[in-house]
Amino acid sequence: MNKLTGFKKIAACTVAVLICASVFSGAGSVVMNAEKAQAQSAELKENQSNISDTKSDIEELIAKQEELDKKIAETKDNIDSEEENKKAIEEQITTVQRTIMALTSTISQTNDEITALEQSIAEKEVQVNEKHEQIVEGVGEFKERLKAMYVAGNNSYSDIIIGSSDFYDMLMKMELVKRVAEHDDKMIDDLIVLKDQYEADEAELNAEKTELETKQAELETQKKAHENQRDKLQVLFEESQIAIDELSSNQEIYKNNLAMIEQDKAEFEKHLEQLYMERMAIQTEEKRKADEEKARQEEARRKEEERKKKEEEEKQRLALEKQRQEEEEAARKKAEADAAAQQADDNSGSGSTDDYDTDSGSTITDTPADTDDGDDDTQLYIPPTASDNLSKNAQNGYVEKSRFTWPVPGHYNVSSGFGYRNWGVLVGYHGGIDIWDSNIYNAEIVAADAGTVIDVSNYCPHDYGKSYSCGCGGGYGRYCIIEHSDGYWTLYGHANNIVVSVGQYVEKGQVLGYVGSTGHSTGPHTHFEVRLNGERQDPQNYV
Ligand SMILES: [Zn+2]
Ligand SMILES: [Zn+2]
Repeated sequence: MNKLTGFKKIAACTVAVLICASVFSGAGSVVMNAEKAQAQSAELKENQSNISDTKSDIEELIAKQEELDKKIAETKDNIDSEEENKKAIEEQITTVQRTIMALTSTISQTNDEITALEQSIAEKEVQVNEKHEQIVEGVGEFKERLKAMYVAGNNSYSDIIIGSSDFYDMLMKMELVKRVAEHDDKMIDDLIVLKDQYEADEAELNAEKTELETKQAELETQKKAHENQRDKLQVLFEESQIAIDELSSNQEIYKNNLAMIEQDKAEFEKHLEQLYMERMAIQTEEKRKADEEKARQEEARRKEEERKKKEEEEKQRLALEKQRQEEEEAARKKAEADAAAQQADDNSGSGSTDDYDTDSGSTITDTPADTDDGDDDTQLYIPPTASDNLSKNAQNGYVEKSRFTWPVPGHYNVSSGFGYRNWGVLVGYHGGIDIWDSNIYNAEIVAADAGTVIDVSNYCPHDYGKSYSCGCGGGYGRYCIIEHSDGYWTLYGHANNIVVSVGQYVEKGQVLGYVGSTGHSTGPHTHFEVRLNGERQDPQNYV
């Protein structure tokens, strides 16, 4: 609002200067007009430089946006495939987990079996111990027997039999020996059986136990292997999650960058809107002052007419008065003459002469008031090549579609059109057309129609093809904007030089500059835009 108020003040001063100028001589008027144009030009320049300072590089932004869109799409694919990978790992983990659970249950079962076996081993050991005791007991008995025989001095059965006192004694002794021998045999046999059984049982139990222990060890190994596999999968799962988190955070960064670029673009458009509003305010104020001046002059003219009318009425009144006096004088003279004549007639009888003058005098001529306000603020700059440029278009067979002519005479190839370009996730916007061919460098860029230069950026030493933006002129490099009548603007970008300046009036076809590759430009071309009341139009509807 402050800026707008500033513009209104400037406009008011400008009109004040105009009113003063009309009072002075023609030479003074020229001086004052020049001052006014200078003030306007200075204001526009300040305005333009303010905007240039904050302008962002739209073309660079669009390229960045395209790159980011690709990255976002790629990242999304990566996330999708990583999610699939994670899911596969998750499934494997579930499978391994199930196997581990099955193994755990088998191990537990085996443990139960081992426990049961150990119990039966313990029971068997008790039995074996009993048998062992029996053996020990039997061996003890046998030893007692041997001891008794030794004590008796009978070293052998034959000694006992031989040492018999009589046959009966001998028979008795023989029977005894036999029985003792049988008993001894049986006892020894029993002992041997017991010992064998004990050893067999023990071996069997131990074998069974060893088998179970082997089986259990095997199961434990399997379990360990599965647990290792599960742990590895767990690590993969966590890594996958980390990758997804990282990709998601990248995705966020890309999206934020994209949002920032969109914001920059919006800000640039806002500045152009501001410029447009300011231009509108100046024009409205100028028109209002002009209307006021016209009304003032109309009022002065009306008053002058009234004054002249009154003067004329007074003149007529005086004329009538004079006529009346003359008539009276004539009547008086006539009466005198008549009296004299009567006297003479009375004397000689001569006739009368009618010399009455009916001429009422002058005719009224109306001279109109001088309404020339001396206001001619156009700075006529006669370009040497404007008509040449227009006829060059005609000679090349170019037929004008509208009031606008082709901005680069002799070069009619459009390499990039206006409108939305599909870049995948989002769409980009190209605000104009790019005019390009292989020998366009240094060709003349001409005003598509007559108008006033309202914006110029003529600094960019980077006149060569590049895939990035040097940032000069908000990405347009060296460019200018022309304001035409009826709310039209045209923009010409990427020139190697601009030869017009802000505030200057240009004719249709007048050279504005020369084709270059400044700003964000991959090669020599002219970026051409048409705006109507600040809104971008498709230039191909106009040229
Ligand atoms: Zn540059
Ligand atoms: Zn372009």
